[in-house]
Amino acid sequence: MGSVETADVVIIGGGVIGASTAYYLARRKLGRIVLLERETLGSGSTGRSVASIDLFSHHPAALALQARAYEVFAHFEEIFGQECGLVITGLAVLGGSEHAAGLQQAALSAGAAGIEADLLSPAEFAALEPAADVTGLASIYYAPLGGYADPMLTTNAFAGAARHSGVIFQQGRSVTGLRRQGGQVAGVETASGPIAAPVVVSAAGPWSQRLLKLFGLSDLGLYACDHPVISMHGPADVGPPQLSLLDLPHQTYARPETGHLTLAGSMDRSVGYEPIELENFRGQAAAEYTFWVAERLVQRYPALEASELRQGWSGLMTISPDWQPVLGAIPEARGLYIATGFSGQGFKIGPAVGDLMAGLIAGEAEAAELLAPFHPSRFAEGRPLAKSEFGALG
Ligand SMILES: Cc1cc2nc3c(=O)[nH]c(=O)nc-3n(C[C@H](O)[C@H](O)[C@H](O)COP(=O)(O)OP(=O)(O)OC[C@H]3O[C@@H](n4cnc5c(N)ncnc54)[C@H](O)[C@@H]3O)c2cc1C
Repeated sequence: MGSVETADVVIIGGGVIGASTAYYLARRKLGRIVLLERETLGSGSTGRSVASIDLFSHHPAALALQARAYEVFAHFEEIFGQECGLVITGLAVLGGSEHAAGLQQAALSAGAAGIEADLLSPAEFAALEPAADVTGLASIYYAPLGGYADPMLTTNAFAGAARHSGVIFQQGRSVTGLRRQGGQVAGVETASGPIAAPVVVSAAGPWSQRLLKLFGLSDLGLYACDHPVISMHGPADVGPPQLSLLDLPHQTYARPETGHLTLAGSMDRSVGYEPIELENFRGQAAAEYTFWVAERLVQRYPALEASELRQGWSGLMTISPDWQPVLGAIPEARGLYIATGFSGQGFKIGPAVGDLMAGLIAGEAEAAELLAPFHPSRFAEGRPLAKSEFGALG
């Protein structure tokens, strides 16, 4: 019989979160780090992400993570010697009079977190986006540095740098169980044998809830949903909107994409966020949803009436009970950490989450403080975070 494989840390999942955690653990020289991915890097939510970097949230703790992650996106080439595909479009969050107070508070909180954000009048917004219909708008939150990046470039750069620092990546190797000795984690089981390790980080995206069950641990109320994204081409004479947008009255989001495209979707929690069994995932946007989004987008940008609908897609998101990330130690199994439940907003904070999860494992006080609001035990303790009044992506 061969000897059991060993590691100091095993990471489950090779999406943007697993890859960035691997990189930051390696930077802290936390020993032998092994990342296990059931399929290929980025094959979960990450590779299907719209990857908007919307510098916006109703929650100050989430803004702190966004600001920290943005520092990495903005200096990506200097750090990794390769690009993450960052395109700065500016982000506008369009609000009616009922949203004005909330947007003002969000702008103040963003400023306190170090994110540049202003409030614009409808006329000021129209000067930036002349093709927009501003009917019904009263207040606009504007973050000039918002934009989007490329999720696969980002993930591969983290993985490449982590490999360079000695992290072992094993793709096509699925975790099937957690090894425990009393209350302490002792490693993971896989079809090709166990790996003994005192620390395990579960960054398994939509599979997280299933893994917790498999591990015999408490339910965190997470669910996977199949979220569709639509794609519109043109129109030739006006072009797509230039800014990234969250349109609160219409409950849609949109951002430009190369090739004259607009990518868009719903931010209404009751449209496009329904729970799905993972086996039923097909990866396509249904016609009914496509029209729901396109119709609203055309109301805001009448010129888009002349655009062409192109093939969209869908991806699995992991929704938590308060629609905020779930980040931290699982008290039932000492040595087990979880980073999941991003509720459609994990890409833009990916670099910060990896850094802070690694910091938490290394016992750093700053990491513990910044992650405290997102602790997994908040649900069992009856203190979930307040749900955003703005919709799914607020
Ligand atoms: C359509 C769509 C649009 C989005 N748009 C945005 C956006 O505009 N901005 C934004 O910030 N976020 C967005 N998101 C959310 C963002 O993409 C996710 O929050 C982020 O990619 C999560 O990364 P992850 O590493 O946690 O999960 P994943 O990328 O899902 O990675 C988890 C990995 O774990 C692996 N795994 C699972 N179980 C096991 C196991 N047992 N053993 C080994 N490996 C396992 C999976 O194969 C998978 O690769 C969007 C998501 C979707 C689906």
